[in-house]
Amino acid sequence: MIIYADQQAAQDAILAGKHHAGDRFQVAGRPHVMIDDVWMTPDTPEPEPVREWTDEQNDVAYDTFRELADHKGTAFARDTMRGIQRMGAKFAERDLAAWVERYVDEHVTSCEWFAMCDREATTTRAHPILGEVPICGRCDSKF
Ligand SMILES: [Zn+2]
Repeated sequence: MIIYADQQAAQDAILAGKHHAGDRFQVAGRPHVMIDDVWMTPDTPEPEPVREWTDEQNDVAYDTFRELADHKGTAFARDTMRGIQRMGAKFAERDLAAWVERYVDEHVTSCEWFAMCDREATTTRAHPILGEVPICGRCDSKF
C-alpha cells in the first residue's frame, strides 16, 4: 500500500492521475480508499454466509469491532472483521453493516467516504466495494 506523508502529497498524486477509483492508500496513518467521481463496478458479490451464531456471539463480535475501531478506525475494524470472517466466523455482511451503523451512532468518528474529507461522520452509506461506510452530512448530501 502507498503511504503518503500528508494530504497534500496524496492530493498531488490524485491530480497527477496516479490513482484509480477504489485504490487503497494511506494518509497520515489513516487507511482510506480513494473514491473519485468514477465508480468501480463491484465484482460479483460473494454469497452471504449463513448466519449460524447467536445474539450473544454478535455482542462479542461488536465489542471486538468497537475496540478495533477505537484504536485504529472503522476501516481497520471492518477489514479485520472481514479477515476473521474468512477464517470461518459465520457473520453476514448485514451484521458488519449493523456494527458500523451502531458505532457511528455511539461514537465520534470521521467521514471515510472521500479520502480528503475529515469531517465528523453523522450517518453511514453503503459503498459498492467496502460495504457500510461512515459518512458526513456534506458528502452524503452529494447523492
Ligand atoms: Zn465527508
